[in-house]
Amino acid sequence: MQFQNTLTFAQQLDAEDILRKYRKEFYFPQIEGRQVIYFTGNSLGLQPKLAQSYVDEIMGDWRMLGVEGHFHADKPWWDYHERLAGPLAKIVGAEREEVSVMNTLSVNLHLLMVSFYNPTKTRFKILCEEKAFPSDQYLLNSQVRCHGLDPEETIVEVKKREGEHFWRTEDVRAKIEELGDELALVLIGGVNYYNGQVFDMEGITKAGKAVGARVGWDLAHAAGNITLKLHDWDVDFAAWCSYKYMNSGPGNASGVFIHKNHLGNTDIQRFEGWWGTKKETRFLMKPVFEPMETADAWQISNPPVLALAPYLASLQLFEEVGMDALIAKRKRIVAYLEFILNEIAQAVEGSFEIITPKDRGCQLSVLLHGQGRPLFDYLMKHGVIADWREPNVIRLAPAPFYCSYEDMYRFGQILKDGILTQND
Ligand SMILES: *Cc1c(COP(=O)(O)O)cnc(C)c1O
Repeated sequence: MQFQNTLTFAQQLDAEDILRKYRKEFYFPQIEGRQVIYFTGNSLGLQPKLAQSYVDEIMGDWRMLGVEGHFHADKPWWDYHERLAGPLAKIVGAEREEVSVMNTLSVNLHLLMVSFYNPTKTRFKILCEEKAFPSDQYLLNSQVRCHGLDPEETIVEVKKREGEHFWRTEDVRAKIEELGDELALVLIGGVNYYNGQVFDMEGITKAGKAVGARVGWDLAHAAGNITLKLHDWDVDFAAWCSYKYMNSGPGNASGVFIHKNHLGNTDIQRFEGWWGTKKETRFLMKPVFEPMETADAWQISNPPVLALAPYLASLQLFEEVGMDALIAKRKRIVAYLEFILNEIAQAVEGSFEIITPKDRGCQLSVLLHGQGRPLFDYLMKHGVIADWREPNVIRLAPAPFYCSYEDMYRFGQILKDGILTQND
């Protein structure tokens, strides 16, 4: 389709958008009385209007039932988390028993590393991407130190090539092959938080496993954004937070994936707690841990039901819409945003470039040339909520659930005015 950078054209795309009614299902912040153009669904998704009633339900059950809510609420609390596994399994391409919800993302990656990073004298290295999300760097470093190893010798980073803004799959593969028998674990962000790149998860998983390593993915920017087939790709483990594209609310619970091959394995190293032991016998309070035969074996505590409630509400919307429809709109709206950005980049030559490669999801990262921060402040002042990353990058993620094509057009107008004002 030939795009046009006009209001009429954007409105026509909105009229054809089968997801357009979902825009009204979310609360938008306002700046100076006007609904914002929201580009930070990759950081904190907007609140679904449905969320409140799900939270109210728990508050009501607690008020009316007290402890009895664990078993006698309409949605009993003791296995509330199980309600999330089915919808999530569809989103990440897993079987239901391979998915659980617990804790938060960095915590879960630590717990999963206990199970899947078991260094030996000869096989101990970890492969990750350079400049991974800071929490991932800290967790890899501290895990390695816990094993008495030196992070410098243990953690190997795949670098971008000089002058390039993205990682090349062939470079990741080459490193995996070079490390070979020494490689214990590959752990990479499936969608990079900075440049928005989608890694070839299937190919990299295959390559890692071919040399005998375990392969895990941090899916913080991938879950609810791109097509995932964790089971079929034979990924060992993965985890994601739910507050980015999954719209579950600030700091909310994380989902985990553990491949079926590892379920029911009583030899696996794992930090255990009472919620991971068999449901049938859990309350007999026996001294022996009998793991659930699902990813729930990794559950340690009884779940924070008040937090899971808005997550479940959000998943209800994902169930209704389905990832295929979301991804179809995401591709189109990102392409439209790219078209508008390119028009402006041509009109005001040398002002910025898009550094996100073609393998991408919802996010376009724009590297500004010249004075970036004042332009970013200008955008915020004019009702655009975007995200600033040092030294000079603005991240734009038009989440398909609630962003409109008209938003993209209006943003383009504001951006152009902003650049021209800065240049004056
Ligand atoms: C957002 C994000 C996190 C956040 O971790 P929390 O434990 O939820 O605070 C971790 N890793 C990546 C790659 C992220 O993008």
